Amino acid sequence: MKSVTLLGATGSIGVSTLDVIAQHPERFSVFALSACRNVERLFQQCQTFKPRYAVLTEPQAAEQLYALLQQVDLPTQVLVGEDALCQIASDPEVDYVMAAIVGAAGLKPALAAAQAGKRVLLANKEALVMSGQLFMDAIQASGAELLPIDSEHNAIFQCLPTQNRQQGVQKLVLTASGGPFRTWAKERLINVTPAQAVAHPNWSMGQKISVDSATLMNKGLETIEACWLFNVSMEQIEVVVHPQSTIHSMVTYCDGSVLAQLGNPDMRTPIAYALGYPERLLSGVKPLDFIQLARLDFERPDTERFPCLRLASEAHQAGGYATIALNAANEEAVQAFLKQQIGFMDIPRLIEQVVVQARAGTPTTLETIFIQDKDSREAALSWIKTKKMQ
Ligand code: NAD
Ligand code: MG
Repeated sequence: MKSVTLLGATGSIGVSTLDVIAQHPERFSVFALSACRNVERLFQQCQTFKPRYAVLTEPQAAEQLYALLQQVDLPTQVLVGEDALCQIASDPEVDYVMAAIVGAAGLKPALAAAQAGKRVLLANKEALVMSGQLFMDAIQASGAELLPIDSEHNAIFQCLPTQNRQQGVQKLVLTASGGPFRTWAKERLINVTPAQAVAHPNWSMGQKISVDSATLMNKGLETIEACWLFNVSMEQIEVVVHPQSTIHSMVTYCDGSVLAQLGNPDMRTPIAYALGYPERLLSGVKPLDFIQLARLDFERPDTERFPCLRLASEAHQAGGYATIALNAANEEAVQAFLKQQIGFMDIPRLIEQVVVQARAGTPTTLETIFIQDKDSREAALSWIKTKKMQ
């Protein structure tokens, strides 16, 4: 029986994780659940999974949850704030931690799980983009297990050799759906609305990652994520647009072999793989219907219409501070775009402006990571403010 903490339980990944866990009550128990402010959903989840702890980031939401739990007489203890997130991620009784908070907010608790030697199921790619070296060092030092949840990285994990993970590997090929604007002309992209950007053709996901998929920043962040996870250079990574999202990614070998992992686009597959590893578990995902699928298409990504892919690669080459700036500027740009303060094509423009201001080199402490994060957010917000006044 494995005891699981879910960071970001009320989100798209959190809900899919609980769906898989519910299919295996003999294998997993839920130790703790967390959310930012979605009291209603967290309360429902507490009633179903009866965790020891429920953590909310917002104090008011925590009070509401506390009142609701009193009414139903559940033993779940309500905690509040970031320290509580780190506590439920590192508690000695916890075996597995699903890191599924979106954005920089997830870094400290994910790192706490890594330092405490847990099996870390990493969905929160922004954490790794911000802290790559520090995070991987923490995993090494504590003997934690790091299992990627991002479908591309989970696919690559499945396609790599089990013993010597680098042996004979030539390239990691990350597939990208191309997002909702794959076929749109550059001029049309200027007028994209938030509603159009969050409507992903193949995957159902949270708002932020949906916009990232539309700009291709999601793929950019994923190339950086892959460099850290699999200890490869940016040159060893190739991005291929594959509109069906059936091949989740591939590994090419020096003998000409290519291994791919295929399946329906449903996050319960990588989640079940990481929960069960090295065993396979039922996930509830429908089997792939090859006849209905009929074909697999591939295209070269267009970095002129989608500059974020290039920006991510350049930032990674520049160093750790630049990737922190890239992530911070992107988070602020996406929020401003969703609030209709800036246009879709302003997103890469803003990011480029902020990344050039980043310090040189790579930070070695969490403190310096968050200083760069804060500086870059301020630079992004002032860019947005100027833009709004125009
Ligand atoms: P989501 O927006 O649906 O959910 C985010 C979760 O994080 C929610 O539970 C929310 O309450 C919590 N949260 C948000 N802000 C917070 C804060 N400031 N402090 C504490 N908690 C906070 O997002 P999602 O789509 O589930 O994505 C989660 C992470 O997984 C992201 O990093 C994303 O890139 C990654 N990911 C998602 C998918 C997917 O299919 N959804 C696929 C691959 C990777
Ligand atoms: Mg992905």
